[in-house]
Amino acid sequence: MRKFLLTEKDIPRQWYNILADMPNKPRPPLHPGTKEPITPDMLAPLFPQALIEQEVSAEKWIDIPDQVRDIYTMWRPTPLFRARNLEKLLDTPAKIYYKYEGVSPSGSHKPNTAVAQAYYNKMEGVRRITTETGAGQWGSALSFACQLFDLECEVYMVKISYEQKPYRKIMMQTWGAKVFASPTDRTEAGRKILAEDPNSPGSLGIAISEAIERAATDPDTKYSLGSVLNHVLLHQTVLGQEAVQQMEMAGDWPDIVIAPFGGGSNFAGLAFPFLRFKLEGKRDVRCIASEPASCPKLTKGVFRYDFGDTVGMTPLLPMYTLGHKFVPAPIHAGGLRYHGAGAIISQLIHDRIIEARAHDQIETFDAAVLFARAEGIIPAPEAAHAIATAIQEAKRCREEGTSRTILFNLCGHGHFDLKAYQDYFEGKLQPHALSDEEIQQLIAQIDTPEIA
Ligand SMILES: *Cc1c(COP(=O)(O)O)cnc(C)c1O
Repeated sequence: MRKFLLTEKDIPRQWYNILADMPNKPRPPLHPGTKEPITPDMLAPLFPQALIEQEVSAEKWIDIPDQVRDIYTMWRPTPLFRARNLEKLLDTPAKIYYKYEGVSPSGSHKPNTAVAQAYYNKMEGVRRITTETGAGQWGSALSFACQLFDLECEVYMVKISYEQKPYRKIMMQTWGAKVFASPTDRTEAGRKILAEDPNSPGSLGIAISEAIERAATDPDTKYSLGSVLNHVLLHQTVLGQEAVQQMEMAGDWPDIVIAPFGGGSNFAGLAFPFLRFKLEGKRDVRCIASEPASCPKLTKGVFRYDFGDTVGMTPLLPMYTLGHKFVPAPIHAGGLRYHGAGAIISQLIHDRIIEARAHDQIETFDAAVLFARAEGIIPAPEAAHAIATAIQEAKRCREEGTSRTILFNLCGHGHFDLKAYQDYFEGKLQPHALSDEEIQQLIAQIDTPEIA
């Protein structure tokens, strides 16, 4: 069979919280000023209570509210495919499967958490949600979700993406959001960056600073993050739990689970429900996070406390990072241009429970085009990183003459990223990797606390 489909009744009723099963829990977040562990109430200006509780919860299973699950039925369950054409093209004994999240209204996995976050904000009487967006995927997912709950949505979009991806902006506006090119002159944080560099292309870190500042200074407004935080990773596990059922339908089990890595949410979404079996000592699995060579925080970064944003307003989180001041090169995989990783993911990397691999931009587009020609779907440039890793693993199987089962996350389609494909076809993409010297320099500049 080529396609494994579930029905509405198979959509999970609970999210899976991997914190309950981790052998070593992440260190606590620290207050940016005092450097002491923060208490949950310090997050109250930014997030609704229910999400703060999820952020620190050690419960293994957390119920999905009926209303959220009902909205999930608009596009869930999503399909899982066996990539038979790709297997043939690669002449590999490996079996390759992929979970496809591009069927959601905004075209990626992001609405899985956007809908949940909008729901909890609405329940607690919030009127407006601010956020940042890189490639525009998160902003469009949250705009869609806010529209469903009649919430105002204000999006700070990284300037380079705002210019490269006008259609994402129009999607957000169609769903009723207000969109600004960040850095803006609407916030203290944005004005500070503009004073230093009026032509700043922006970064996710800068846009986060702007969105947080708006929420922190307005009692009717809360902030929402599309990745990195524990509750975001939690909500995404709906997709991996479906994939577990679908692999069972296929009569198979992945030896290797692969997902692209920006801040960790789609990786967690797919990998954690499989990793559960490993942590419970039942079935082994290798999980690989695929990141850009131009932003290699997992493969080349340091494990220490760092800020989530550029200006240093967020709590300090224990993470693999290239430093919060790092502005990645303007590669086309906008969603992967983030300096750090979530606390859970970072601890799992540190404990060698999961692995990471970096790919150059050209290599990822080679993989994306090969995939599109074999399987038909045009992948998001972010998703192409997972495809590049999957192809590497499938080729290794061919060389070794072994058959392994590989599952990767096709976390979004690339219909709004065709400019990137155009640049690739015209030979305009530069191979770009950070040199070891550049990385040493970046790391030497980090002045946040070390992890004891
Ligand atoms: C946002 C995004 C990513 C990166 O974010 P994660 O939290 O690491 O998943 C990757 N792929 C797509 C399609 C995205 O929209």
